[in-house]
Amino acid sequence: MPKTIIAANWKMNKNKREVTQFLTSLKTVKWNKEKEVVLCAPYTLLPLLDELNKKAPWKIGAENMHDQESGAFTGEVSPLMLKDTGCEYVIIGHSERRQFFGETNESVNKKLKSALAHNLTPIFCVGETLEQREKNETEQVVTQQIQEGLKDIKTLNQIVIAYEPVWAIGTGKVATPEQAQEVHALIRKLTSPEISILYGGSVKPENIKDLMAQKDINGALVGGASLEAESFAKIVNY
Ligand code: PEP
Repeated sequence: MPKTIIAANWKMNKNKREVTQFLTSLKTVKWNKEKEVVLCAPYTLLPLLDELNKKAPWKIGAENMHDQESGAFTGEVSPLMLKDTGCEYVIIGHSERRQFFGETNESVNKKLKSALAHNLTPIFCVGETLEQREKNETEQVVTQQIQEGLKDIKTLNQIVIAYEPVWAIGTGKVATPEQAQEVHALIRKLTSPEISILYGGSVKPENIKDLMAQKDINGALVGGASLEAESFAKIVNY
């Protein structure tokens, strides 16, 4: 049975004071322990999250990593460094990384293998652009991202997949539950009945319930609405 996971993606936002405030508010929220809650944060905030997180019910994640353990890769952060700051999750292949930092299915595949080898749970992001959807290429694009991204990976059940249509990220345009379910069913068919498949793209307290009612949607990856503890808590407690 796939785990229900609600993950925040803070992107390039928040400072130490804001994180402390966020966690203070979140600590007053009660939620069903069956749900896994993950806070994916910029590298600079991970040590603080680790420190403040002792005994907290949520997990920590990073938003990216390099596939190598160490070496001459100026400005990069390795899986060992993430482990050292208490990370259990890492987002891999987010569309913003693909769009602005040249990540490809091949580089994503290397990172996925490295994350798994270091016992980090990758949240592997896939999704089509608006142009690709309008040209009816969604199925082909997502299939290729999944097949190339997961090439030679045997331990599929240790991966979380996030379907994030690029046209729905940060735009306020959410995929309808049916549109999302259609792609989630495809991803399920290409992977495993056990894998958690999250939906991402303008998830809000108002739309989470209908999305979660879909058969193959096992959680959400939340950008904008995860920045405020109040709206994130409402999503967690949909
Ligand atoms: C994201 O970037 O992963 C995301 C889903 O963003 P938003 O919720 O703001 O659309």
